[in-house]
Amino acid sequence: MDTAICTEDGLTYTAVEFSRLDPLQLERKRRHLICEECGLAAFFRKPSRSGRGACFGARPHREGCNLAATDNEIRVPGTGDDQDEAFNPGDRIIVELTFGGQDGEVHLDRDERGPRRPRGGRHIGEGGPHAAQMHRRLSTLLRLLVTAPNFRYSDQIIAVTNQPELPARDFFVHLSDVTPLHIGQFRGFWGQLTDAREGADGVLWLNSGGRAEMSFCLPPEHRPEVMQRFRLEEEEDFSGSYILVLGTLHVSRNNKKFCVIDDPAVIALR
Ligand SMILES: [Zn+2]
Repeated sequence: MDTAICTEDGLTYTAVEFSRLDPLQLERKRRHLICEECGLAAFFRKPSRSGRGACFGARPHREGCNLAATDNEIRVPGTGDDQDEAFNPGDRIIVELTFGGQDGEVHLDRDERGPRRPRGGRHIGEGGPHAAQMHRRLSTLLRLLVTAPNFRYSDQIIAVTNQPELPARDFFVHLSDVTPLHIGQFRGFWGQLTDAREGADGVLWLNSGGRAEMSFCLPPEHRPEVMQRFRLEEEEDFSGSYILVLGTLHVSRNNKKFCVIDDPAVIALR
Protein backbone atom coordinates (compact mmCIF):
# COMPACT_ATOMS: atom_id res chain seq x y z
CA MET A 1 0.00 0.00 0.00
CA ASP A 2 1.14 3.52 -0.74
CA THR A 3 0.35 5.20 2.56
CA ALA A 4 0.06 4.30 6.24
CA ILE A 5 -0.82 6.09 9.46
CA CYS A 6 1.66 6.37 12.30
CA THR A 7 -0.30 6.18 15.56
CA GLU A 8 2.52 7.90 17.43
CA ASP A 9 2.05 11.24 15.66
CA GLY A 10 -1.29 10.59 13.92
CA LEU A 11 0.15 11.51 10.52
CA THR A 12 -0.36 9.77 7.21
CA TYR A 13 2.88 9.03 5.38
CA THR A 14 3.73 7.89 1.92
CA ALA A 15 6.42 5.20 1.85
CA VAL A 16 8.86 7.65 0.28
CA GLU A 17 8.19 10.29 2.93
CA PHE A 18 8.57 7.69 5.62
CA SER A 19 11.89 6.48 4.21
CA ARG A 20 13.24 10.05 4.48
CA LEU A 21 12.59 10.33 8.22
CA ASP A 22 15.49 10.75 10.55
CA PRO A 23 16.80 7.19 11.16
CA LEU A 24 16.04 7.17 14.88
CA GLN A 25 12.50 8.45 14.32
CA LEU A 26 12.01 5.92 11.56
CA GLU A 27 13.07 3.00 13.76
CA ARG A 28 10.62 4.09 16.45
CA LYS A 29 7.69 5.07 14.24
CA ARG A 30 7.82 1.92 12.11
CA ARG A 31 6.58 -0.06 15.09
CA HIS A 32 3.43 2.07 15.31
CA LEU A 33 2.00 1.88 11.81
CA ILE A 34 -1.54 0.95 10.83
CA CYS A 35 -3.47 0.55 7.58
CA GLU A 36 -5.44 3.69 6.73
CA GLU A 37 -8.57 1.79 5.86
CA CYS A 38 -8.83 -1.23 8.18
CA GLY A 39 -6.73 0.12 11.05
CA LEU A 40 -4.76 -3.07 11.60
CA ALA A 41 -1.03 -3.12 12.27
CA ALA A 42 1.22 -2.44 9.31
CA PHE A 43 4.93 -2.59 8.56
CA PHE A 44 7.40 -0.55 6.57
CA ARG A 45 10.24 -1.80 4.40
CA LYS A 46 13.12 0.39 3.38
CA PRO A 47 14.28 0.43 -0.25
CA SER A 48 16.37 -2.66 -0.87
CA ARG A 49 19.92 -2.79 -2.18
CA SER A 50 18.55 -4.68 -5.19
CA GLY A 51 16.30 -1.77 -6.18
CA ARG A 52 12.90 -2.51 -4.64
CA GLY A 53 11.29 0.73 -3.55
CA ALA A 54 10.22 1.65 -0.03
CA CYS A 55 6.78 0.23 0.77
CA PHE A 56 4.17 -0.43 3.41
CA GLY A 57 2.24 -3.64 4.00
CA ALA A 58 -0.28 -4.84 6.55
CA ARG A 59 0.29 -7.54 9.16
CA PRO A 60 -2.20 -8.44 7.65
CA HIS A 61 -5.31 -6.47 6.64
CA ARG A 62 -8.74 -7.07 8.11
CA GLU A 63 -10.79 -9.32 5.84
CA GLY A 64 -12.37 -7.29 3.08
CA CYS A 65 -9.99 -4.33 3.36
CA ASN A 66 -9.77 -2.69 -0.05
CA LEU A 67 -6.08 -1.96 0.37
CA ALA A 68 -5.17 -5.66 0.68
CA ALA A 69 -4.85 -6.01 -3.09
CA THR A 70 -2.18 -3.31 -3.17
CA ASP A 71 0.10 -5.45 -1.00
CA ASN A 72 0.34 -8.13 -3.64
CA GLU A 73 3.41 -6.90 -5.37
CA ILE A 74 5.51 -7.11 -2.21
CA ARG A 75 6.27 -10.40 -0.57
CA VAL A 76 3.45 -10.53 1.93
CA PRO A 77 3.46 -14.13 2.92
CA GLY A 78 0.60 -16.39 3.73
CA THR A 79 -1.73 -15.91 0.83
CA GLY A 80 -3.03 -18.48 -1.52
CA ASP A 81 -0.53 -21.30 -1.20
CA ASP A 82 -2.35 -23.48 1.26
CA GLN A 83 -2.97 -27.14 0.79
CA ASP A 84 -5.89 -28.33 2.82
CA GLU A 85 -4.87 -30.64 5.52
CA ALA A 86 -7.37 -32.65 7.46
CA PHE A 87 -6.65 -33.13 11.13
CA ASN A 88 -8.73 -35.18 13.48
CA PRO A 89 -9.21 -34.33 17.14
CA GLY A 90 -6.54 -36.09 19.13
CA ASP A 91 -4.05 -36.23 16.27
CA ARG A 92 -0.56 -35.93 17.61
CA ILE A 93 1.82 -33.70 15.68
CA ILE A 94 5.47 -34.39 16.30
CA VAL A 95 7.48 -31.28 15.53
CA GLU A 96 10.52 -32.00 13.37
CA LEU A 97 13.31 -29.72 14.47
CA THR A 98 15.95 -31.33 12.35
CA PHE A 99 16.93 -29.80 9.08
CA GLY A 100 19.97 -30.06 6.96
CA GLY A 101 20.88 -30.13 3.32
CA GLN A 102 18.49 -30.23 0.41
CA ASP A 103 18.10 -33.98 0.55
CA GLY A 104 16.63 -33.93 4.01
CA GLU A 105 14.13 -31.25 3.12
CA VAL A 106 12.98 -32.99 -0.04
CA HIS A 107 12.61 -36.26 1.80
CA LEU A 108 10.44 -34.66 4.48
CA ASP A 109 8.31 -32.89 1.89
CA ARG A 110 7.56 -36.11 0.15
CA ASP A 111 6.71 -37.79 3.43
CA GLU A 112 4.28 -35.06 4.32
CA ARG A 113 2.28 -35.60 1.17
CA GLY A 114 2.32 -39.34 1.40
CA PRO A 115 0.10 -41.52 3.51
CA ARG A 116 0.39 -41.29 7.25
CA ARG A 117 2.75 -43.90 8.46
CA PRO A 118 4.98 -44.45 11.41
CA ARG A 119 8.62 -43.60 11.16
CA GLY A 120 11.47 -45.04 13.12
CA GLY A 121 9.31 -47.86 14.39
CA ARG A 122 6.97 -45.68 16.42
CA HIS A 123 3.61 -47.03 17.36
CA ILE A 124 0.60 -45.05 16.18
CA GLY A 125 -3.05 -45.00 16.91
CA GLU A 126 -3.07 -44.88 20.69
CA GLY A 127 -5.47 -41.95 20.73
CA GLY A 128 -8.36 -43.92 19.28
CA PRO A 129 -9.46 -45.28 15.94
CA HIS A 130 -9.11 -41.96 14.11
CA ALA A 131 -6.14 -40.48 15.93
CA ALA A 132 -2.89 -40.42 14.07
CA GLN A 133 0.63 -39.41 14.68
CA MET A 134 2.37 -37.26 12.14
CA HIS A 135 5.60 -35.41 11.70
CA ARG A 136 5.54 -31.78 10.69
CA ARG A 137 8.32 -29.33 10.09
CA LEU A 138 8.27 -25.90 11.67
CA SER A 139 7.75 -24.25 8.29
CA THR A 140 4.64 -26.37 7.71
CA LEU A 141 3.26 -25.42 11.12
CA LEU A 142 3.85 -21.74 10.40
CA ARG A 143 2.05 -22.12 7.08
CA LEU A 144 -0.91 -23.70 8.87
CA LEU A 145 -0.97 -20.97 11.50
CA VAL A 146 -1.04 -18.29 8.82
CA THR A 147 -3.34 -19.85 6.26
CA ALA A 148 -5.59 -22.30 8.14
CA PRO A 149 -7.37 -20.14 10.71
CA ASN A 150 -8.80 -23.06 12.68
CA PHE A 151 -5.48 -24.76 13.26
CA ARG A 152 -4.30 -22.38 15.98
CA TYR A 153 -7.50 -22.95 17.97
CA SER A 154 -7.49 -26.71 17.50
CA ASP A 155 -6.98 -29.61 19.89
CA GLN A 156 -4.16 -31.22 17.91
CA ILE A 157 -1.51 -32.31 20.35
CA ILE A 158 1.83 -30.65 19.70
CA ALA A 159 4.79 -32.77 20.71
CA VAL A 160 8.24 -31.22 20.97
CA THR A 161 11.14 -33.32 22.24
CA ASN A 162 11.77 -32.85 25.97
CA GLN A 163 8.76 -30.54 26.43
CA PRO A 164 5.31 -31.18 27.88
CA GLU A 165 2.74 -31.85 25.17
CA LEU A 166 0.02 -29.25 24.71
CA PRO A 167 -2.97 -28.76 22.41
CA ALA A 168 -2.27 -26.37 19.54
CA ARG A 169 -4.61 -23.75 21.01
CA ASP A 170 -2.39 -23.50 24.11
CA PHE A 171 0.96 -24.17 22.52
CA PHE A 172 0.85 -21.53 19.79
CA VAL A 173 0.76 -17.96 21.05
CA HIS A 174 0.22 -15.11 18.62
CA LEU A 175 2.58 -12.20 19.26
CA SER A 176 -0.37 -9.93 20.00
CA ASP A 177 -1.62 -12.36 22.69
CA VAL A 178 1.62 -12.60 24.70
CA THR A 179 1.04 -11.76 28.37
CA PRO A 180 3.20 -11.84 31.51
CA LEU A 181 1.62 -15.24 32.21
CA HIS A 182 3.74 -16.64 29.38
CA ILE A 183 7.00 -15.67 31.05
CA GLY A 184 9.05 -18.78 31.68
CA GLN A 185 6.79 -20.87 29.44
CA PHE A 186 8.00 -22.85 26.43
CA ARG A 187 5.65 -22.04 23.54
CA GLY A 188 5.44 -21.55 19.80
CA PHE A 189 5.42 -17.76 19.48
CA TRP A 190 4.28 -16.57 16.07
CA GLY A 191 3.08 -13.52 14.19
CA GLN A 192 4.48 -10.81 11.95
CA LEU A 193 7.57 -8.71 12.50
CA THR A 194 7.80 -4.95 12.25
CA ASP A 195 11.56 -4.72 11.84
CA ALA A 196 14.99 -6.07 12.67
CA ARG A 197 17.46 -3.93 14.55
CA GLU A 198 21.14 -4.34 15.34
CA GLY A 199 21.80 -4.65 19.04
CA ALA A 200 24.92 -4.94 21.17
CA ASP A 201 27.51 -7.65 20.47
CA GLY A 202 26.22 -8.48 16.99
CA VAL A 203 22.79 -9.52 18.21
CA LEU A 204 19.90 -8.86 15.84
CA TRP A 205 16.61 -7.96 17.50
CA LEU A 206 13.50 -9.03 15.62
CA ASN A 207 10.69 -6.80 16.81
CA SER A 208 6.94 -7.21 16.63
CA GLY A 209 5.94 -3.69 17.64
CA GLY A 210 6.84 -1.09 20.23
CA ARG A 211 8.64 -1.70 23.52
CA ALA A 212 5.61 -3.36 25.08
CA GLU A 213 5.57 -6.05 22.39
CA MET A 214 7.69 -9.16 22.41
CA SER A 215 10.98 -9.35 20.49
CA PHE A 216 13.23 -12.21 19.40
CA CYS A 217 16.96 -12.19 19.95
CA LEU A 218 18.97 -13.69 17.08
CA PRO A 219 22.56 -14.28 18.21
CA PRO A 220 25.33 -13.48 15.70
CA GLU A 221 26.45 -17.10 15.36
CA HIS A 222 23.04 -18.10 13.95
CA ARG A 223 22.29 -15.06 11.79
CA PRO A 224 24.02 -16.14 8.56
CA GLU A 225 22.41 -19.57 8.63
CA VAL A 226 18.92 -18.22 9.34
CA MET A 227 19.16 -15.58 6.61
CA GLN A 228 20.48 -18.05 4.09
CA ARG A 229 17.91 -20.72 4.88
CA PHE A 230 14.98 -18.32 4.45
CA ARG A 231 16.59 -16.53 1.50
CA LEU A 232 16.73 -13.12 3.14
CA GLU A 233 19.10 -10.85 1.30
CA GLU A 234 19.27 -8.17 3.94
CA GLU A 235 18.04 -7.51 7.46
CA GLU A 236 15.31 -5.27 6.09
CA ASP A 237 13.63 -8.36 4.66
CA PHE A 238 12.54 -9.36 8.17
CA SER A 239 10.04 -6.47 8.15
CA GLY A 240 6.60 -7.89 7.51
CA SER A 241 7.76 -11.52 7.59
CA TYR A 242 5.84 -14.11 9.52
CA ILE A 243 7.87 -15.81 12.23
CA LEU A 244 7.43 -18.89 14.39
CA VAL A 245 9.92 -19.54 17.17
CA LEU A 246 9.81 -22.36 19.69
CA GLY A 247 11.31 -21.08 22.89
CA THR A 248 10.84 -19.72 26.36
CA LEU A 249 9.61 -16.20 27.03
CA HIS A 250 11.89 -14.11 29.21
CA VAL A 251 11.60 -10.62 30.58
CA SER A 252 14.55 -8.26 30.99
CA ARG A 253 15.23 -6.09 34.02
CA ASN A 254 13.69 -3.15 32.23
CA ASN A 255 10.59 -5.16 31.48
CA LYS A 256 11.18 -6.07 27.84
CA LYS A 257 9.65 -9.40 26.83
CA PHE A 258 11.91 -11.49 24.60
CA CYS A 259 12.76 -14.97 23.44
CA VAL A 260 16.23 -16.08 22.39
CA ILE A 261 16.58 -18.06 19.17
CA ASP A 262 19.17 -20.39 20.66
CA ASP A 263 19.27 -22.80 17.73
CA PRO A 264 18.63 -22.14 14.01
CA ALA A 265 16.31 -25.18 14.09
CA VAL A 266 13.71 -23.47 16.31
CA ILE A 267 12.80 -20.68 13.87
CA ALA A 268 10.66 -20.60 10.74
CA LEU A 269 10.04 -17.54 8.56
CA ARG A 270 7.82 -16.90 5.59
ZN1 LIG B 1 -6.13 -2.64 5.51
